[in-house]
Amino acid sequence: MAILSQFDVLALRREFPILQQHVHGKPLAFLDSAASSQKPRRVIETLEDYYRRYNANVHRGVYRLSEEATFAYERARGKLARFINAASQREIIFVRNTTEAINLVAYAWGGANIRAGDRILLTMMEHHSNIVPWQLLAQRTGAELIYLPFDGQGRLVLDDLDRLLDERVKLVAFTHQSNVLGTINPVAPIVARARAVGARVLLDAAQSVPHMPVDVQALGIDFLAFSGHKMCGPTGIGVLWGRREVLQAMPPFLGGGSMIDLVELDHSTFAAIPARFEAGTPAIGEAIALGEAADYLQEVGLATIHQHEQELTAYALERLAAVPGITIYGPPAGPDRGGAISFSLEGVHPHDVAAVLDQEGVAVRAGHHCTQPLHRVLGVPATTRASFYLYNLPEEIDRLVAGLHKARQLFA
Ligand code: PMP
Repeated sequence: MAILSQFDVLALRREFPILQQHVHGKPLAFLDSAASSQKPRRVIETLEDYYRRYNANVHRGVYRLSEEATFAYERARGKLARFINAASQREIIFVRNTTEAINLVAYAWGGANIRAGDRILLTMMEHHSNIVPWQLLAQRTGAELIYLPFDGQGRLVLDDLDRLLDERVKLVAFTHQSNVLGTINPVAPIVARARAVGARVLLDAAQSVPHMPVDVQALGIDFLAFSGHKMCGPTGIGVLWGRREVLQAMPPFLGGGSMIDLVELDHSTFAAIPARFEAGTPAIGEAIALGEAADYLQEVGLATIHQHEQELTAYALERLAAVPGITIYGPPAGPDRGGAISFSLEGVHPHDVAAVLDQEGVAVRAGHHCTQPLHRVLGVPATTRASFYLYNLPEEIDRLVAGLHKARQLFA
């Protein structure tokens, strides 16, 4: 097939040491990047270089190593700002992951802005990390959560926004790309409608920032949350981006070192952003390595990566549809269909599907993928999910399909 015309995936794969291995005697086909991506050598080396050569705490020491670490850490912040086209690198808050970013907003912004009777609009396709923090906030404040449904093809029912959006809604928080349905949600019409009632908008970009160009200024949102480990970076590091004036007006989340201006015995004053939201020693080497990952993805090109994944997804949807007994969830191939494909195989439990595929060297995920409400809508407790990234090949999809035929022979 005429795929992979834009860049040399075989050469690119050689940059990922983990992809060179065999599993159960078969070459590893890693189809679980929606859970966590693999890391290129240069990201691993950047992390190692920090620990080997200039490991020291940031923002404190006046000695050489600490200055070097501080410089690299702040330079990484600048790289992440450019990666999502933030207006200022002070809008980049380093956190552990998407989950922590959303919790930060729920506590700090939510605590200051949400009152009893207010509403927070979510969607039925959210990851638990974009549901539970809001439930906790609602319990603390007496606010109410309401949900935008999705249709039989896994697309948000935008017509329902008229019914759901009014002045009581203070925040709309939704996923840019579903980790289960693969749907790439339309941000512009939702932002426009949210703005019309004065609501803030948070975008869960865990599944979009790694895979497509994302420009926070063009999107017109207030908050963006994403994880380093899904974009070729290390675990333990992620980003909350917030619009400058919104962040500046927010009280702190965690209290401690580095986030203060003056500490008296009975009260404190707080540092400006971003320090106000980075209490304690941050994940220094991980942030620096995430900056390297951002450089790497930009050098390959986010538009190129997206195109490659679109082609892989279209190919996979076509091949999977021919597997007897399969039900595929989410939209058909097209511009609003990203590279995460969840499915059921009649008569075979998702965990058995994944176990058979593992024997073939094919790594996929089975379960509810942290989306129990979504799965209740689908009417199944669990699905099997294959997901793609820049290093995947059409041959790996062929092996996925062959493995599914084998699972059917064994179980169905
Ligand atoms: N939102 C979405 C859409 C996700 O796919 C994930 C990760 N599966 C998360 C949030 C949470 O990311 P993390 O576990 O890195 O906090």
